[in-house]
Parts: sequence; structure tokens; C-alpha cells
Amino acid sequence: MKPSILDYTQEELERLFPPKFRAKQIYNWVYQHHISDFMQMENVPKKLREELQSRFVISPLKTVQKQKSIDGSIKYLFELQDGHTVEAVLLKMKDAVYDENGELLHHPKFTVCVSSQVGCKVGCAFCLTAKGGFVRNLTAGEIVGQVLEIKKDNDIASNRRVNIVYMGMGEPLDNLDNLSKSIAIFANENGLSISPKRQTVSTSGISSKIKKLGEMELGVQLAISLHAVDDALREELIPMNKAYNIASIIDAVKAFPVNTRKRVMFEYLVIKDVNDDIASAKKLLKLLQGIKSKVNLIYFNPYPGTTFQRPEPEKMKAFQDYLLNRGLLCTIRESKGLDISAACGQLREQELAEERRESVS
Ligand code: SAH
Ligand code: SF4
Repeated sequence: MKPSILDYTQEELERLFPPKFRAKQIYNWVYQHHISDFMQMENVPKKLREELQSRFVISPLKTVQKQKSIDGSIKYLFELQDGHTVEAVLLKMKDAVYDENGELLHHPKFTVCVSSQVGCKVGCAFCLTAKGGFVRNLTAGEIVGQVLEIKKDNDIASNRRVNIVYMGMGEPLDNLDNLSKSIAIFANENGLSISPKRQTVSTSGISSKIKKLGEMELGVQLAISLHAVDDALREELIPMNKAYNIASIIDAVKAFPVNTRKRVMFEYLVIKDVNDDIASAKKLLKLLQGIKSKVNLIYFNPYPGTTFQRPEPEKMKAFQDYLLNRGLLCTIRESKGLDISAACGQLREQELAEERRESVS
């Protein structure tokens, strides 16, 4: 199995293939011209093109399934070189705006939700990704490749930047080395040029690693999957809470360097009759006092075999209003891509179930 060229930072390529400017050329071809063959790199000597061709693949991923939702979001299932699969989703946050003459006023805005691992070790009770257990970490190239494939597939021009959220399959902070490398590769100005402030790392709350990520001063945004406001319930939902309780997470967040104009996002997955009551909203408000934060309420998305249920919209609204009326920013995550089973892990699970059926018959 050949490594992918996407696994390398520009500095690493500079060391591997001097003179220095070659790395910049390679980055340009791969990330801005979206080449599919090293031989297309016209300004690179033929000998080097042949060497690259024999040593590396460009993309380590192959699209095996694609589902389009009525709201414009597209979910991808990618196969990795060893046959495992991961998901990523292209979310259209804003449509293009045209004036009366059909001239483009604003480009559409996109966010790509990427996976960081095959499976996950954390084992949250509500999450389908957790059901299959942990398989392996993704390499930096396998993370970066998800965005590159999606930009190519949708003809998103190289100068049109997208935002990244690490909210797909896996716990990004459990793969900190490759995560930080992918953040740097995304940010490279000769490549995709996605500045760290447009990248959001979502974590289930490994406090020690939140501290470490903060100390790395990468400039990324932070999202915490809180989901519960007392430790007993949070332990039931996220077993890891035994080791890293709510107080330790809040401490780590307070120590995290946040871009002055940004806030830490707290994700709160709302499950019917589990955590959708006003008493929880009240505790949440208290917990976040003194932190520049915003809350994102997420509808639990049911799947076959779970006993958890989607909350009533009225309850969501009441929860949101309670926080808004007391000055805490709070949004409800639109059910983007609901008809394509939005929560990550669901497309892969369908595919694996099909494989299981096939191997039985
Ligand atoms: N492991 C990290 C990264 C994202 S996990 C984390 O937990 O923060 C993927 C996201 O999907 C999380 O925000 C999680 O809350 C959400 N999610 C998982 N299962 C879900 C479900 N059944 N319905 C809706 N959202 C779900
Ligand atoms: Fe892992 Fe996140 Fe799913 Fe929890 S919600 S099991 S941390 S992917």
C-alpha cells in the first residue's frame, strides 16, 4: 500500500524533494489544480514526477456512496486503502445570492464535516459510530482527503474556501498527532488555505487533551459535546465522564485560548425525557457562567435498535428560549440532511449491515 502525498506537510516535502520551491509546486498542483495524476504536473521534472508516481498515491480515498438531501447537503461514504469506510458531509450553509440581472452577489457557503477515526473508543450510548467499536486512527492525509474529494466532486473552485468541523466519526482528540497535522495541511496557503479559525474541533471532553490542544496554540475553534449537566447522567451517556467529569472539562475550557471574536461552542444533544427539561437548561446556564460560549441544541436522530427518542420541537424551543432570554447565545441545529440520516456513522452502518446480510445469504 503506497502512502498518500496528502499525508505530508509542505515542510516535509521540502526536506524530501529539494530544492525548496518544488514542495510549493506540488502543493499547488494537488490542492489547487485538483490533479488526479502526478504526470499532470507540467513544471515538475519528468524524473521527479515518475518517482512520485511510483512512491505515492494522490488520494487515499474512493467514494463508494453518495446521498443527496433535499436541503442540499451531501453525505459521502469513502473507502480507505485498507477497505475500511468513513463518512463526511458537505453542508450548504448559505445559498448563492444573485441580483436581478443574474450577477452573482455572494458565493454559497460550505462546511465540510470530517471524520477523524474509523469507529471510536469513547462509546457514547446514543451514537451509532460507537456501536462498531474502534478500528483505527485516520492519517492526516485521510482526513484532508475527505475535503479534497468533496471540493473536486462539487466543482468548488480552489479559491472558494470552506469551513471544517471535526464532527464526523471518531474522537479527534484521541488522534491528536494526525489531527494537528491535518489542521496545518488544511491551513497551508499554497494548498486549501482554510485558516484554523475556520476549523472547529469537536470533542466529547477529554480534559487533558483539551489542555494539550490549547497549549499547541493552533488557533482552532473548540466545540464541547456536553449533552448533560450532571455527572450521573453524563456518565450514562458518555462513559468516559468517569475519568473526565464536567468540572474538569469546564476547567480545561477556561484555560483554552479562544480567538477574541469567537466563542466556545457547547453541543447539547437533546433526547426526549432524558435531558430536555427546563431544570437542565437552568443548570446549563449556571455551568457556563463566565465563559464566552454559545450553545447548539441538536435533535437526537433515532436509528433502528435505539430506545432514545427525538424530542418534541416545543421542548426544544422552550429550552432555547430559556437560555436566550437570559442572555446565552443558543441555536438549534437545523435538521440538515435529516432525510439522509444526518448523524455521522449512519451511512456506514447501513453499508456494514448490507455486507453482513450478503455474507449470510
Ligand atoms: N467525537 C466527537 C466528534 C463528533 S461525534 C464528539 O463527540 O464531539 C459526532 C457528532 O454527532 C456529535 O456532536 C454527536 O453529539 C452527534 N451525534 C452522535 N449520535 C447522534 C445521533 N444519534 N443524533 C444526533 N446527533 C448525534
Ligand atoms: Fe465517539 Fe463522538 Fe460518537 Fe461519542 S459521539 S462515540 S465521542 S464519535
